[in-house]
Amino acid sequence: MNTLVLKFGGTSVKDAAAMQNVFSIINNDIPKIVVSSACSGITDALLALLNFAADKQTNLMYEKLDFIDNHHKKVIEDLFNSSDMYNQVMARYNELFNELKKYIESIHFLNEKTLKSIDKVVSYGEIFSTTILHFYCISQGINSIWLDARKFMKTDSNFTSANLQFDLSKSELQNQLDENIFDEIGLAITQGFIGSDLQNTTTTLGRGGSDYSASLIGKMINADEIQIWTDVDGILSADPRIVQDAHTIPQMEFNEVRQLAFFGAKVLHPSTLLPAIEQGIPIKVMNTFNPDNQGTTILTTIQDDSARLHSVVYLQTKRIEFPLASVNNFAAKSAEILQYFTYSKVYFTNIIPEGMSVWVDTKFNPRQVISDSTNFQEFAQINLIAITGKNINNELIDSINKLLIDKLASIIFISNRKNLVIIEQIEYKDIDLLQKINELIKQK
Ligand code: ADP
Ligand code: ASP
Ligand code: MG
Repeated sequence: MNTLVLKFGGTSVKDAAAMQNVFSIINNDIPKIVVSSACSGITDALLALLNFAADKQTNLMYEKLDFIDNHHKKVIEDLFNSSDMYNQVMARYNELFNELKKYIESIHFLNEKTLKSIDKVVSYGEIFSTTILHFYCISQGINSIWLDARKFMKTDSNFTSANLQFDLSKSELQNQLDENIFDEIGLAITQGFIGSDLQNTTTTLGRGGSDYSASLIGKMINADEIQIWTDVDGILSADPRIVQDAHTIPQMEFNEVRQLAFFGAKVLHPSTLLPAIEQGIPIKVMNTFNPDNQGTTILTTIQDDSARLHSVVYLQTKRIEFPLASVNNFAAKSAEILQYFTYSKVYFTNIIPEGMSVWVDTKFNPRQVISDSTNFQEFAQINLIAITGKNINNELIDSINKLLIDKLASIIFISNRKNLVIIEQIEYKDIDLLQKINELIKQK
């Protein structure tokens, strides 16, 4: 079966105009499963709603319910205003909304919030958005199947970050597709992020989990391609909210995307793409609001071996330094030191006989975890800048070094695979340097 999986993020289904864009992207004969997030902001609103209910903040609870209800009703009104289906879709939506309202009122009554209730409440975000999208396709003359992800994304009962049982889910999905004659209809719309455990209680895969759902579904049906549709032109050379003129990287290797995300680029959680990458399924990142743009294709390996830079990302850290010069076995001592960081996010370490340096999240508080007998020095306000690329050679390194003159910055690491350079800068948020690196990436 030559089927695609298309995942639309929250901004891609945020309102009627966005959903119309989605429709124009899926309106063709290629068989596809569409995986959608909740309308942007709705998952957060549902979480706030649950907190108000559990805390018996009655007025705030009803205000939030109204906000959620009004948002979806407006989308329905804008999309179906003059359509014959208006009453049908509104009736179905009201039924779902009343289910949510009843559930929230029972939480208000019981005065209690559990992980199970979080998953139940947030699942409505995806249920609402996919219901609207499904009816909209039908109103436009395109037949569609609304697939309930709770019937086939089977997980354990680890509420709020459940683990998928892949083989069971795969066969349940196949049953659902067969039952709904997907082979004939060719379009199924389902929810990202949500599933259910073996008792059929609603679970979720964790925040931002829709990318993961798409990747898993892609693997289950052995899709030809997985497309992640978002609100920018693919993976960009820099964070577009910080750097002007960030441009699309046409092709990237999976490991490079993983590194980019590790150093803080908020575009994809790459480990969520692993199921698809392991299966050799190409992943594209595309812009719902500019669908003609080619976007970014993520592959296991790119055949072209030319030397180039792709992207830059920065993050703020602290550097903790431990002297090792007077220690006999510096490797054993550094292994011991690393344990202080077990529960923190470590971005980089460097160990030489003279000492060990650890670049760690700014929240790390050494006084709380490092034993009194261990010497260390703390340096705050350290910026790490990661540049990714392919075959980053000496000529490219020279060009990077030229940008660092007068910048209190230097290269501290070049990966063996020549796909990552790390710069340390002793100053926070130097937008000028990021901007210059982005220009260099563009030239090279
Ligand atoms: P979605 O709602 O579609 O899941 P997200 O908000 O999770 O989208 O991710 C897309 C956002 O990631 C973009 O709007 C962009 O601002 C941000 N972003 C940060 N760094 C990058 C980058 N290097 N390339 C692309 N987008 C980035
Ligand atoms: N709606 C969920 C969230 O906001 C899942 C997702 O969008 O990927 O976390
Ligand atoms: Mg996302």
